Amino acid sequence: MNTTLSKPPVFRFAPSPNGLLHLGHALSALLNQDMAKAVGGRLLLRIEDIDPARSTPEFEAAILEDLAWLGLDWEKPVRRQSDHLDLYREALGRLVKMGVVYPAFLTRGAIKTMVETFEQRGKVWPRDPEGAALYPPEERGHSPAQQQRMLASGKQHAWRLDMAKALAMVGETLSWQETGSGPKGETGSIAADPAAWGDVILSRADAPSSYHLSVVVDDALQGVTHVVRGQDLFHATAVHRLLQRLLDLPEPVYHHHRLILGPDGRKLSKSNRDTGIAAFRTAGKTPEDLRRAVL
Ligand code: GLU
Repeated sequence: MNTTLSKPPVFRFAPSPNGLLHLGHALSALLNQDMAKAVGGRLLLRIEDIDPARSTPEFEAAILEDLAWLGLDWEKPVRRQSDHLDLYREALGRLVKMGVVYPAFLTRGAIKTMVETFEQRGKVWPRDPEGAALYPPEERGHSPAQQQRMLASGKQHAWRLDMAKALAMVGETLSWQETGSGPKGETGSIAADPAAWGDVILSRADAPSSYHLSVVVDDALQGVTHVVRGQDLFHATAVHRLLQRLLDLPEPVYHHHRLILGPDGRKLSKSNRDTGIAAFRTAGKTPEDLRRAVL
């Protein structure tokens, strides 16, 4: 008799409590639920609240209310990232020891000025897949002694991944298995291009971690096997694969779904009250109406 019990697949919906959920989140939550059900999997809910300036308990409460109304059935207790900051610090510490991160002191304003001055001379500053300017290269080459001096000055700083060093350490092309699709229909085995993001931030000056670092730490810790989320995070997956490899974490399967666009053809935003789940609910519609509208 075969007594090996295989573990059920684990899915998660991971909203950030910095606004109300919109119809795109409803699609994500329902897809996670449906896909988990279809394979006898578990569904977790994770509150991604590492940004103290933008996350509020009120938004978290509204998220839980909207999801309950939607009929989402998630396991308790809910994991809240702000309860686990020590874990992200520990992961960052490992990367510091490996020598693939460096303290970054340039402020947003300083970077903006550098980029503007550069582009006024008719040159093009490299940008990431979301159009943001890549972090300037200067501090990457600082010696450990220089870094120590700057850290000792007590000036606010972030920690950034030295992308070139990290890629050299990994030494191979990374990929992921995509069962949904990217913005251009990419599916199947996807070659990851983390370099397109430059020296990504892993711990912010004003927050104890970053989205990229905490998401890979938590997905691994919670045993997530299937990441189902919007196509806006398709390209970020390249960074997640690199961090997973550096930190020796398992690789989930990824499924990116289409984004729901507003009447203006743009991505829905959390500040647009008309396209929120709560607005849908107060307009007298049912969860079934919403399911029909998004799926
Ligand atoms: N917290 C992220 C958001 O609300 C989603 C993270 C993820 O699914 O990987 O956009």
